[in-house]
Amino acid sequence: MVLIKLNPTVGATDAVASSKHSAVLHRHLDTTFLNMTRSEGNFLILENDRKIFDASGGAAVGCLGWGDQRVAQAVTNQVLAAPYCATIFYTTRVQEELCRDLVQSTNGAMARAYIVNSGSEAMEAAVKLARQYFLEIDQPQRTRFISRKQSYHGITLGALSVGGHEVRRAKFEPLLIKNVSRVSPCNAFRGKAPGESDEEYAERLAKELDEEFQRVGPENVCAFVAEPIVGAALGCVPAVKGYFKAVRDVCDKYGALLILDEVMCGMGRSGTLHAWEQEGIVPDIQTIGKALGGGYQPVAGLLAGHRVVNALEKGSSVFVHGHTYQGHPAACAAALEVQRIVREENLLSNVRAMGDLLSSRMREILASHPNVDDIRGRGLFWGIEFVADKENMAPFPSEDHVCMEICQLGLTDKYGINVYPGGGSVDGITGDHIIISPAFNISREDVEWIAATVGRLVSDYFAAKAGTQ
Ligand code: PMP
Repeated sequence: MVLIKLNPTVGATDAVASSKHSAVLHRHLDTTFLNMTRSEGNFLILENDRKIFDASGGAAVGCLGWGDQRVAQAVTNQVLAAPYCATIFYTTRVQEELCRDLVQSTNGAMARAYIVNSGSEAMEAAVKLARQYFLEIDQPQRTRFISRKQSYHGITLGALSVGGHEVRRAKFEPLLIKNVSRVSPCNAFRGKAPGESDEEYAERLAKELDEEFQRVGPENVCAFVAEPIVGAALGCVPAVKGYFKAVRDVCDKYGALLILDEVMCGMGRSGTLHAWEQEGIVPDIQTIGKALGGGYQPVAGLLAGHRVVNALEKGSSVFVHGHTYQGHPAACAAALEVQRIVREENLLSNVRAMGDLLSSRMREILASHPNVDDIRGRGLFWGIEFVADKENMAPFPSEDHVCMEICQLGLTDKYGINVYPGGGSVDGITGDHIIISPAFNISREDVEWIAATVGRLVSDYFAAKAGTQ
């Protein structure tokens, strides 16, 4: 059943008549896109001045809201001063300051930062850096990666190969990187056995990882790759306590690296600047993106730990990698200013407080809904998972496009809210989900409005869906 069409004309004057010539070929080619002309604070403003409340910061990107004058000025100043710099011979003050701030933010855990333009690029770089590390220390046979099912690490071929998002991978099989195997994600809601404690569950998953190392030969494994809180593939699923300590131990036992993908959950989104801080472990390589620049420029990056950096310094002393636009000065200026504001305004404490409020309100309003089976997340990164049948946790058929339809209904005048679709069932096992991830400076009043509006949206959607079945 399709309640509202996948490409609704949300209001004739909102819509761009034809998007055939735009670069957004990546969605449904016949989609009629909303034409956003401005964005201010929490609002996205369409051509006819209709306003939509951005409760997800786009794709969990916006962390300051929109229209921040300080960031805009920092970018403008940088573009006027030096818009571009070929990083083979040059660096800029903004790149150096950003990298220094990022490294310092890890309290000595990480040694160097590397700035690129997207999360996928960051993951490509992370995978290559891990590989190069083992070449430097004379273990060239370590070419295998272990990641997790129902994961997403980016859309380029390397990142897609490491990820476990079956829908996004399917068309492009066989992928370029072959030697990747996948173990179970840590998803307490669907993965825990009846009566199993968190500790037992974490132990069981670590054992599965250990067995995968054994199966492929531990001496061949380059890195284990995981997101501390699974974003796009599962909808804001944090691991149970002790899981990351246990998988870190497995990596250490076999000398493999741990790569944590914090592109979506990192840079404050989880309530601490780095999500791994809440797990009591430190990765060897970490990727960051989205909230790094808050959407003001395309910017992402990676942080490399001492073990990796020392090996490179002793070895070929250069990471054999590079993009024309890496370390882009305008992108660095935006990220530097965004991060200064996050620190100066103590926004992470607001992330934690408003996250608690948002989750408790959403639970009050939606937990007993027959199609809402799990509300989970951390900080200002919350996912709501929907099921057709709560008894057996059965997801809706993917042809129903439940999460997409809920999001599109949200965009209509009646609700005027932007929430983020999780992409529906990744593999037929998980349910549809939506993500709520507002700006870090969100007010109490706005959180109350988001929870109430999401509650109304979800209830109305399923009431209409039931009525038309
Ligand atoms: N890793 C994770 C965890 C992500 O969520 C994403 C994007 N959703 C990426 C990597 C890829 O980032 P980008 O879309 O900026 O290439």
